[in-house]
Amino acid sequence: MKKDILGVSIDDVVTEEAITLGLTLLDKPGFHYVVTPNPEFILAAKKDEEFRQVLNGADLALPDGIGVVYASKILGRPLKGRATGVDFAQGLMAGMAANGKKLFLLGAKPGVAQEAARRLTAVHPGLAVCGTHDGYFTEDGPVVEEIKASGADVIFVCLGAPKQEKWMKANGAATGAALAVGLGGCLDVFAGNVQRAPEAMQKAGLEWLYRLFKEPKRIGRMAKLPLILADAAAARLGGK
Ligand code: UDP
Repeated sequence: MKKDILGVSIDDVVTEEAITLGLTLLDKPGFHYVVTPNPEFILAAKKDEEFRQVLNGADLALPDGIGVVYASKILGRPLKGRATGVDFAQGLMAGMAANGKKLFLLGAKPGVAQEAARRLTAVHPGLAVCGTHDGYFTEDGPVVEEIKASGADVIFVCLGAPKQEKWMKANGAATGAALAVGLGGCLDVFAGNVQRAPEAMQKAGLEWLYRLFKEPKRIGRMAKLPLILADAAAARLGGK
């Protein structure tokens, strides 16, 4: 079930449910896409109507981040918990490896997607990575053709938001893939360039704090978390 969090529809799913739904989309005819809204997305969508519509048109919108869960509670329509893009992607790849589905990795700086592919195939034996492309291209056409020729079933689109969501909406169907997932900086994580927080911190909902220690320049972006909580409180008080 989707819940409206400050204008963005988010599925009330935890990771395992999200993975099951994602794998189901692979067997449905047509093209589908998954988005992973966090507080930054919600604030950006307030100012960017096209982005908001692309988010709301997604087949699956994961609550990626504790800030979205907090906001949902303040709004009085609580989400069960979060389902991060990284965890969703890992589960999806395990299911894909078991079913012989092909994955294309798109995004990040040159060389990162190849290294991610190398590591992911070691972690998920049987996973078929059918192609990679960096995220710094100027024309969509040749990239779409490359994905189409690779026969990909799934594309991980890691160009940062809102670029990756708009890219999926505009180009996804032409790639011939069944599913695209917008995954931000995930390829950097899969390639081992960026570490995730220790599990205890992830479970405590403190992954953001860990990222802040690792990359202090993110402070400006993270300051958006209290902003959406304030928006949620205002909306609740305003009876929305
Ligand atoms: N990126 C890209 N093409 C661009 C801009 C960004 O491939 O034109 C990549 C960038 O290299 C990084 C990812 O997109 O790997 C975005 O990372 P960010 O930290 O913004 O994502 P988050 O995980 O915070 O959503």
